[in-house]
Amino acid sequence: MTSELRAVRPPGQRVWLLTAPYEVPRAESVERRPWGMHHVRRDGSSTTVCGVSASAWVTFWTMDFRPLDRAACPACASAFARHTPSAQS
Ligand SMILES: [Zn+2]
Repeated sequence: MTSELRAVRPPGQRVWLLTAPYEVPRAESVERRPWGMHHVRRDGSSTTVCGVSASAWVTFWTMDFRPLDRAACPACASAFARHTPSAQS
């Protein structure tokens, strides 16, 4: 028995973060939700994978970017799918 499986990143540690320019106003929703188009960026990067600067944007740490979501940025969705071939479901 080896511990090769330890190379797999621990669950809960997100590499791809859902981000959007705005969040739904608190009056509309108690949970934080992105408002407008959903983009995705890599943890540690301030630029979305479609190339937009997201340094002033809201990051939704507890939500997954879903490329097939109607609100997903098409450029982010295709780049995300290229980077994470196993994450398409
Ligand atoms: Zn995008």
